[in-house]
Amino acid sequence: MTGNLLTGMSTNREVRIYVAETSEMVASAQKTHDLSPMSTAALGRTITGAAMMGMMSKIEKEKLTLQIKGSGEIQLMVAVADTKGHVKAYTSEPHASLQTNDLGKIAVGQAVGKEGQVVVIRDMGMKDPFIGQSDLVSGEIAEDLTYYFGQSEQQATAIGLGVFLTPDARVKSAGGFLVQLLPEASEATIEQLESNLSGMKSITQLFEEGLTIEQIAGQVFAGLGLDELERYPLYYQCDCSKEKMGAGLKSLGKSTLTEILTEDGGAELTCHFCNTKYQFSRNDLKTLIESMA
Ligand SMILES: [Zn+2]
Repeated sequence: MTGNLLTGMSTNREVRIYVAETSEMVASAQKTHDLSPMSTAALGRTITGAAMMGMMSKIEKEKLTLQIKGSGEIQLMVAVADTKGHVKAYTSEPHASLQTNDLGKIAVGQAVGKEGQVVVIRDMGMKDPFIGQSDLVSGEIAEDLTYYFGQSEQQATAIGLGVFLTPDARVKSAGGFLVQLLPEASEATIEQLESNLSGMKSITQLFEEGLTIEQIAGQVFAGLGLDELERYPLYYQCDCSKEKMGAGLKSLGKSTLTEILTEDGGAELTCHFCNTKYQFSRNDLKTLIESMA
């Protein structure tokens, strides 16, 4: 269930890179949600993007929620990531049907649709979270996130994401990269980076050829020099608990909870992210209502 993340800087300190390998994490999401190949590819890309975006924050307590709201079969994908490499995710459509493009590749954009939004919520544990939003460009996720960074966070970014499935729909490899220009980047650096990126194979092909995250970072930064900064483990794992679910119930308000207590005499809640079921007995509900004073 773990993955790997490498972060680095160009030798001239003008470009930052994150490269993630997320094969086991995406396989774990596939198993948890019984995802079809199309949903595995779409949610796998979202998980990988969120994992890198979550680790970009330097604020320890920050939690990043990435929502992809589509107009196709996949109406919603949600991935939540923190600064310690934990990611959890779900989609409204675990069984999206398979569609391929002219090259025979899984056409994620057709399942997500071209109309819709990217929503990013950065919650720093304070009152008001930062919420950024932009329109979808293609529904292919990487392009949509690239556009999001330019529009909503005014940061020149290039993103590649990929999930490669075997003919029997097992996750063979998954991962991605995120490159960000720092404000002082020179014209020469930008040109070099653009030429590197346009000459590169897709991230899926690179993993398929057996390249490591270090080698992929090396290709993106060819001619720029790579100073490796850090390596982190990534985890696909849920952090739900009965206590957190109880807090969710409380947010329904005292009168609604009292209604549930009298009408149903208890409640069963399922975590969207990991499908764990939580039972709230009559007594549990009473305790919750009493604690709301
Ligand atoms: Zn959970």
